[in-house]
Amino acid sequence: MLKFENVIKSFKDGDQTIEAVKNTSITFNKGECIAIIGPSGSGKSTFLTIAGALQTPTEGDVQINGKSISGMKSKELANLRLNEIGFILQTSNLVPFLSVKQQFQLLKKSKKDVMADSELDELFEKLSLTKVRNQLPSELSGGQKQRVAIAKSLYTNPSIILADEPTASLDTENALKVMQILKEETEQRMKTCIIVTHDERLTEYCDAVYKMTDGILEKQD
Ligand code: ADP
Ligand code: MG
Repeated sequence: MLKFENVIKSFKDGDQTIEAVKNTSITFNKGECIAIIGPSGSGKSTFLTIAGALQTPTEGDVQINGKSISGMKSKELANLRLNEIGFILQTSNLVPFLSVKQQFQLLKKSKKDVMADSELDELFEKLSLTKVRNQLPSELSGGQKQRVAIAKSLYTNPSIILADEPTASLDTENALKVMQILKEETEQRMKTCIIVTHDERLTEYCDAVYKMTDGILEKQD
């Protein structure tokens, strides 16, 4: 469960203040797959990074699974991110000198609660990654790298999955496959999944669609 209570995020720009996220109170429940659409610069990424405790709000509070992040020290925030949040960013953020498989072995060292090896094999199969599991990121296509990033975000069993344009580098077939997997994971394992996207093909898979306009989030019909 992810709860925003009167959250505001503002940035200083010279003598001006930009309110990237205006006063927002909202709750997302377990098992929900949410899409956020909206033009560039409207505050979508800022909202998502606050939801994932990568940034703290200027005002208000965020609760993740009933725990308030206000007043958490940076170490606590880092632990919260490691245990509860799976990020899928626009760029895949893979470690350049590790093979696909080694990326996961590294994660296993920092976090004990990860998928079983058989589950990971199954996920590789679903994402068409089995054949490239011994290759380096530089040997992968953009789409393959992004699918590895998606597998990494699921591998650590987070309760909240946050994705910023996760399918930007994928063709239709792979974009829909990825979306199906995210939706399946969200429902079967009762996660909360929030996806920022421009892609109308994806919003059809989501339980609700919100639009961000100048820092204001509104539910679409
Ligand atoms: P989106 O993801 O919808 O394109 P962002 O959340 O990236 O929008 O940005 C929303 C607004 O906040 C923009 O005006 C952007 O310039 C501003 N902004 C975002 N992050 C920062 C920052 N770290 N410092 C200053 N301004 C920022
Ligand atoms: Mg953005």
